[in-house]
Amino acid sequence: MKLRLNLTAALAWLWMGLACGLESPAGAQSPVRPAPMDAALDQKLAVLQRQAFDRPSQALQSLQKMRAEAGQQAGVEAQFLQAEARIQMRLGQRAQALALAARLDSDPLQSARAHVLRAEEADYAGQAEAAAQSAQKALEALSPWCGDEMAAAQAIQAGCDFRNAWSALGLRAEKQQNDGELVLAEATARRRLALAEAGQDDFMRSMTLGDLALLSQRMDQPEQARRWITLALQLGQGQPLWQAYLKGDEAALYARQGQTEPQLRALDEALALAKKADAPHVLAYVQLNMADAYLRLKQPARAKALVEQALPTLLQYGDRRPERAARNNLAQSLILLGQFEAAHREIAKLNQSDKEQAGKANLMEELRERGEAWAAMGRPKEAMADFHQERALNAELVARNRQSSLEQLKVKYDSDRKQRELDLLVRDKSLVERQLANRQLTQQVGLAVAVLLCLSLVLAGVMVNRVRAANKKLRANAALLRAQSERDPLTDLANRRYFLAVMEQQHKPQEASFNGALLMIDIDHFKHVNDQHGHGIGDVVICEVARRLSHAVRAEDLVVRWGGEEFLVFAPDVSQEQLSALAQRVLHGVGATPVATEDGPLRITVSIGFAHFPLPPSKLTLPWEQAVNWADMALYTAKSQGRNRAMGIATVDAQDTEALTQIEADFEAACSSKRVSLTQVLGPQPAQA
Ligand code: GH3
Ligand code: MG
Ligand code: MG
Repeated sequence: MKLRLNLTAALAWLWMGLACGLESPAGAQSPVRPAPMDAALDQKLAVLQRQAFDRPSQALQSLQKMRAEAGQQAGVEAQFLQAEARIQMRLGQRAQALALAARLDSDPLQSARAHVLRAEEADYAGQAEAAAQSAQKALEALSPWCGDEMAAAQAIQAGCDFRNAWSALGLRAEKQQNDGELVLAEATARRRLALAEAGQDDFMRSMTLGDLALLSQRMDQPEQARRWITLALQLGQGQPLWQAYLKGDEAALYARQGQTEPQLRALDEALALAKKADAPHVLAYVQLNMADAYLRLKQPARAKALVEQALPTLLQYGDRRPERAARNNLAQSLILLGQFEAAHREIAKLNQSDKEQAGKANLMEELRERGEAWAAMGRPKEAMADFHQERALNAELVARNRQSSLEQLKVKYDSDRKQRELDLLVRDKSLVERQLANRQLTQQVGLAVAVLLCLSLVLAGVMVNRVRAANKKLRANAALLRAQSERDPLTDLANRRYFLAVMEQQHKPQEASFNGALLMIDIDHFKHVNDQHGHGIGDVVICEVARRLSHAVRAEDLVVRWGGEEFLVFAPDVSQEQLSALAQRVLHGVGATPVATEDGPLRITVSIGFAHFPLPPSKLTLPWEQAVNWADMALYTAKSQGRNRAMGIATVDAQDTEALTQIEADFEAACSSKRVSLTQVLGPQPAQA
């Protein structure tokens, strides 16, 4: 059984507290900030601490001398009391040490020191369980300043007695490690490292780094273990005593890896360093560890010899802590040496002692090593008994370790969950802000849209109005254009195009269905007007004739300027009799009164050819174009009969369109043969005028 951890813990236990000048708090309810530490005293007590582990009598003398020098200096008595108690322990004076601790109990501010002392005393007596309990009380007393929440540096500034805290945590870590709760032990060790670093104590740092190295190794992290131990050894340079402990740790790392040769080399170095530092107590620890190495090398005689050298030294210092491991190694040596009787006696001594104090992990290791030894010596009965015990313990330990891992995970999960909740809150906040921003944006966009909509509505209204106006204008223009295109600009009468449009609208192409009356009107001898008075006066005459025509016809009749000085009147819904009267009105309307011109009044007459459709009496229907032709033929007759008169188609002797076509071919002959009979209406005579 190896003793590396015990070695380190023992030193830590020794070292801590003595150099501490801080006063402990009265309690959580009314924390009192401790007085500032006396740095010089702290240093002296630190040196004393190192001496006391190996030379306690010398240390006690030095302490008494220091106390006399200090006189009645306020606030240092507790430090001296704690230092003295620790030295008494090294002298094996347990009762004396506990009495000094009781004195510290009288001051509530110093209760943490008292608890730490009791914890260390129990540990030194090999009562790890009791030690852990007192350590817990010490940590509770220290918690107002050294609590988990605070960072180590801040905690020390705020009055945390970091040396006693480090010591109490060391005992807690040892308990956790002995119980196989490696995850928790590592967490505790890291907290100790933080305290040591914040307190800028290199010894405490290097010892904690050594502990972390061993823990990493036990947790199957050899590379991490190597990093820790390298750091520790760097810090311990130039300090043979520190190096002796750390080489012991390094040897334990090799032992865990099964590298016995390097293990022994490291232990040889540790042995030499302990001798150099003149440290018999430390030397005893190194010897015990060497015994362990020789057991692995199956050299039980050398192992037995080393244990037998070391045990009396340890008992001389009152140090019962490594006793169990030492006796186990002795028992193994005896088994391997075939001295079974002696071995059973040693094992009986082990079984008599409080197994609970040893810690389950340590017990397991004892059983496994011993079982292997029994097996190696051909003693299956003892080997199997140890094996079964070890397995039972292992099952228990695995369950506990799993439980503590779960608890650690739960703590981590809880803090992760809190962090996630915080993150969520922060994210929620930013979400809400973003939503608000979005809502504002939406409102702005909505407003903009509404404004745009209103504007566009107004614009649309304006545009619609404009378009409407434009359309109206367009229609007006179109109407005007149409009117212009269908109006004669000189007389403002409808032109031939307009008449065609009306006809096309009323009749399908070539449809023989023209209905109504037509009067074709032509100014007589108009050429003379132009010739005698010029075109201007000719235009005036045309215009005046147009005006008089319009007055002569009925409102429902359409007067068209057919061309030049010719006009066409389309009179729908007019009877045969009405038609002759209309022709007469036109003749007199135009010709009765001379047209006033610049050149004086001019007598103007017209000739008219008219007809009513369907043609009487057969009521033959014909297309409008043919109807116009019949009116034109009648006009021609009026001209030929002497002008200033109207000639109307009274009857036509034709039963079909073919007969009509024949008549048209020679209208004069048809008139002569009376196939066409005409009605004549005479215009106003000059004599009358
Ligand atoms: P008739 O009695 O046989 O109809 O003889 P007329 O001279 O009226 O007939 P004709 O067809 O030979 O001559 C018509 C003349 O009308 C010819 C032409 O120069 C003239 N004219 C046609 N349009 C206009 C016009 O818009 N203004 C003027 N001043 N003269 C026109
Ligand atoms: Mg003419
Ligand atoms: Mg004419």
